[in-house]
Amino acid sequence: MISLPEDVQYILNILEKNGHEAYVVGGCVRDTLLGKEPEDWDITTDAVPKTVNSYFDKTIEVGRRFGTVKVLLNGHDYEITTFRRDGKYSDSRRPDEVFFSSEIRDDLKRRDFTINAMAYGPETGLIDLFDGKKHLTQEKIMCVGDADERFQEDALRILRGIRFASQLQFKVDQKTYSAMIANRERLRDISGERIQQELNKILLSIKPSLGISLMDRTGILTVLFPECRRITYKKDQIERIDLLEPDLLLRLTGLLHILTDEKDMPAAETGRAILKRLRYDRKTVIGAASLLKARACLEGIGSSFELKGLIKEIGKEDALLLLKLYEVETLKGIHAVFLKGLYEDILSRAEPVDYKDLDISGKDLIQAGFKGHDIKKAIETLIRIVHKDPGKNKKEILLEMIKNIRKR
Ligand code: ATP
Ligand code: MG
Repeated sequence: MISLPEDVQYILNILEKNGHEAYVVGGCVRDTLLGKEPEDWDITTDAVPKTVNSYFDKTIEVGRRFGTVKVLLNGHDYEITTFRRDGKYSDSRRPDEVFFSSEIRDDLKRRDFTINAMAYGPETGLIDLFDGKKHLTQEKIMCVGDADERFQEDALRILRGIRFASQLQFKVDQKTYSAMIANRERLRDISGERIQQELNKILLSIKPSLGISLMDRTGILTVLFPECRRITYKKDQIERIDLLEPDLLLRLTGLLHILTDEKDMPAAETGRAILKRLRYDRKTVIGAASLLKARACLEGIGSSFELKGLIKEIGKEDALLLLKLYEVETLKGIHAVFLKGLYEDILSRAEPVDYKDLDISGKDLIQAGFKGHDIKKAIETLIRIVHKDPGKNKKEILLEMIKNIRKR
């Protein structure tokens, strides 16, 4: 027995009252059987979109062609999709056409993995035509039908399979695994956005190393990141990503650092190109590139003065992310612990690190007669002075020093 939210029961009721079949289906059935709260409840029915539309007050047609209507109810929305059979796939991405069907069997058959291909209705109970429930207990990711054909139809399924293996900590069935390898090149046809979505879910899962290792062993990393020349990566290096807190920028940078950790490889530039290709937002692209660039300098930093220079460049928040990354990567190596200690001291003593921390403003400098580019130059000089000696961060002292800067 699955306990359904009231809204969902209401929607199923209306459809059934009007003589239709209606079930919850896919991810929500899988998650409930695993004892997890589903993110959203998807409904499938034999009623066609036009008919579904006529039963509810507030609806949005998300894709009539694909048979999906969104029903808005009490501030939530529920996707109702008509039973569907997919037509031929000619581009490894999406079906050329879809056909509505009156059989739930057709709809379950087109779904990607057995654990995602179960439906449930309060009257009928669980409809599990492909052993999804058994595979949930066996902790197995297995395609519905012939894995090779299913990946030929839609290559994104390869990455979805790896994502589910990573999120659920499941194994990939042997045939499905072989088909992932055989069809990996097709991932080149998938858009950056869709790859990004799956990669993010892998990185934010409890054990991203499961997904990353799978991508490594199947040769998918090389397909997704052709910029990186190495064929395989070190297992223990990959496993360290699990130890990073689940922050997307941090884990993404951790992954990129492993991928670009090669002699002569400009890590920041390569990372930037990869993230742009995967359509990451500007903030993430800039953030990761700046962390990768700073990562390359960390080994050379030996003093509080030098560390402040780096914090000034990338900001306090990113500097902390970077030091956490360094600590995890080196398994709390001596130098990483030393730098983290320095960082904490700098912050706990509220020592000045950037322009905002100076006890003097641009306005003060203008009043003292500085103009244009000289203002910036003077500020840089003052920052380095207070980096060395925080005690000098007093307005009178700084104003006095300005005069000397000008004299030079
Ligand atoms: P999540 O918890 O991440 O939302 P989900 O299983 O609900 O996981 P969705 O992307 O929301 O994933 O898709 C809902 C359902 O649609 C899946 O459970 C699966 O049955 C089916 N599905 C989604 N994408 C595909 C695909 N590319 N090929 C075949 N079936 C798919
Ligand atoms: Mg879902």
